[in-house]
Amino acid sequence: MRTKEQYIERLRKMRRNLYHDGDKIDRDDEIQAPVLNVMGITFDAVNDPDLKDLCTATSHLTGETINRFCHVHQSTDDLHKKQDMTRALCRKAGMCIQRCMGTDALNAVNAASFEADKVNPGNTSYHQNFLKWLERFQKEDLVGSCAQTDMKGERLKRPIQQTDPDMYVHVVEKKSDGIVVRGCKLHISEASISDEILVVPTRALGPDEKDYAVAFAVPSDYEGVKQVVSIHSQYKRKHIKRGVDIGYSDSYIIFEDCFVPWERVFLCGENDHGGMCALLFALFHRHSYSGCKPAIGDVFLGLAALAAEYNGIEKTPHVKEMMAEIIKVSELGYAAGYTASSMGKPEVIIPGLGSCPYGPGSYIPNSIYCNVGRCLTGEAVFHEQELICRIAGGIPSTFPYEGDLIHPDLKEVLAKYLNRNPKVPVEDQIKFWMTLGDYTIGSMAGVMNYGNYHGGGSPIMEQIAITSQYDIKARKKLIKYLAGMSGGDSKAIMGK
Ligand SMILES: Cc1cc2nc3c(=O)[nH]c(=O)nc-3n(C[C@H](O)[C@H](O)[C@H](O)COP(=O)(O)OP(=O)(O)OC[C@H]3O[C@@H](n4cnc5c(N)ncnc54)[C@H](O)[C@@H]3O)c2cc1C
Repeated sequence: MRTKEQYIERLRKMRRNLYHDGDKIDRDDEIQAPVLNVMGITFDAVNDPDLKDLCTATSHLTGETINRFCHVHQSTDDLHKKQDMTRALCRKAGMCIQRCMGTDALNAVNAASFEADKVNPGNTSYHQNFLKWLERFQKEDLVGSCAQTDMKGERLKRPIQQTDPDMYVHVVEKKSDGIVVRGCKLHISEASISDEILVVPTRALGPDEKDYAVAFAVPSDYEGVKQVVSIHSQYKRKHIKRGVDIGYSDSYIIFEDCFVPWERVFLCGENDHGGMCALLFALFHRHSYSGCKPAIGDVFLGLAALAAEYNGIEKTPHVKEMMAEIIKVSELGYAAGYTASSMGKPEVIIPGLGSCPYGPGSYIPNSIYCNVGRCLTGEAVFHEQELICRIAGGIPSTFPYEGDLIHPDLKEVLAKYLNRNPKVPVEDQIKFWMTLGDYTIGSMAGVMNYGNYHGGGSPIMEQIAITSQYDIKARKKLIKYLAGMSGGDSKAIMGK
């Protein structure tokens, strides 16, 4: 397994295909340092005695110990550990840990490539291609990003109906040695610091949309790939240092008639499995949320609790009620993920057919619980911010600048007036309110709210998944049984 330094050293050698605010930048440009700090945690963790067990796994391909972020889940225990690793590492970063997109994509492609080969007996070797790619990915301890979200152009039109066919990434040419792809994926987290980009479809696809059913992997500095990068970090502090400096990046990834050799292609034209691959990435990613969103809830709760303590209002009933709300959402989100892990199987729920075997035997978390957990916690994001705002009052929005806090003319007088709780050293109160500002009013906080709300699919997507996969018919039968109506079935008490 690599160290953070070895990881950055490799990024340093990559081709310059990152554009940021009108310039081309290197991957280790200073502006990306806080972003690299977050990813670095995933490398440091494998040597941390408290985290080692959660953050490593045994490769099913080689039997070697690997970073869990490179692992294909082989059991319910793996799913539990993935969830707990995510919560622990997100707590360590104080926000999203950012390496799970690649993990979730490789788990999806592992299953979909296996099934897609069955459609073309003997003619395709998607799964072997993938396993070969995966073995190197695991051995070299690489970081993957997942490029799923397409530009989507006119929202109410399918890929094939778009005025501009490039609004969804698609195959424009098939050659004897590979395929040529065109299109653009957006909001792709950490692609600017990843080794590989895994590309998967965004949505269900019809038989007339085979060109859009494509999954592949390319190095993130690959020829034919341009990245337009947004970088979000907390504002730089000169004097009053934080415990951890964090930042994030998201890229538009433009594929300009990019040639991908067959050995890096994992799906090409199998529209049913393209749709399934899209659904599976979303599912694995919603499972990841059952680790990360509770961790963000832990951070929000800590902010709310300290704000209440420093404002001297922690014993008031309305504050307790608000804190209970944050705890309820976090722990219900975690419980949903825990159940999804425990009920994991090498199966997927197909509307109308129920739970069906899918993939080579690797474990897939239960879809209903992943979706209800992600939906519940995603919808709560802005409300939780509101609760912190109510407890904090206006203080973070007009807090003095660092330079004023340390200025000899102002230091003492500001410390005097910022002291809301004589039991707490005023320097700590100052650091706290600055941190609360980082998480609530800073520009990174705004971006993360959007990410926490929409990442892994907006709540509307989870609602669609829940209502299409849940056995609503059985609930109708239950009512008919209870009402003594025709069509009632006492077996409905078993939920079926
Ligand atoms: C910070 C951040 C990080 C992210 N990281 C990644 C990543 O690493 N990889 C990745 O692949 N994706 C990533 N995403 C993308 C995320 O999955 C999407 O934002 C999410 O799926 C919503 O898609 P969208 O942004 O295109 O919104 P839209 O789909 O444009 O939604 C906008 C509105 O239009 C509505 N709408 C859209 N289509 C229809 C329709 N057909 N019918 C009716 N209403 C419709 C939606 O319900 C919503 O209300 C990230 C997003 C964010 C914000």
